[in-house]
Amino acid sequence: MDKIRFATVWLAGCSGCHMSFLDLDELLFDLADAVEVVYSPVGSDIKTYPENVDICLVEGAVANEENLELALKVRRNTKFVVSFGDCAVLGNVPTLRNVLHGPDPVLRRCYVELSDYGGQIPNAPGIVPKLLDKVQPLHYYIDVDLYLPGCPPSADRIRDAIFPLLRGEKPVMEGREMLKFG
Ligand code: SF4
Repeated sequence: MDKIRFATVWLAGCSGCHMSFLDLDELLFDLADAVEVVYSPVGSDIKTYPENVDICLVEGAVANEENLELALKVRRNTKFVVSFGDCAVLGNVPTLRNVLHGPDPVLRRCYVELSDYGGQIPNAPGIVPKLLDKVQPLHYYIDVDLYLPGCPPSADRIRDAIFPLLRGEKPVMEGREMLKFG
């Protein structure tokens, strides 16, 4: 039987959601039996998001042009997209910069005003992705099939959301254990 083509993606997040995913510990062996990891920042060096992905966990908000391009590609190439963690679901920490009304004040503050000397805003087209005007949660740009909140979601919550999906069942996202933010 073909394995489930499984991916995880890291947009504007701290990688804490991925760390929690790794806290599945020995269940990662069960996961490895059931899936083929076709793209992930952990345990894979595949650079291009592939076609025909069955399930993808997307960590992080959409903050720059690279995030947006990847999010759109994920949606085009994936049957079931999971908005993974509070940054993806709500925007969370990365959206704090939205109160400064655009990327320019943020870049100026970080790279010029707080610089010891000779500060300058990085400008490397094609290398440093351009920031979007506002950071947005994932569903602002693409349809998602499941919201998995938490900062980060606990390993137990990840288990209870993901393993039903591997069996072709919809997880029961109810109650504090599955839905509490933070
Ligand atoms: S939801 Fe929390 S743990 Fe996950 S990427 Fe955002 S800040 Fe990090």
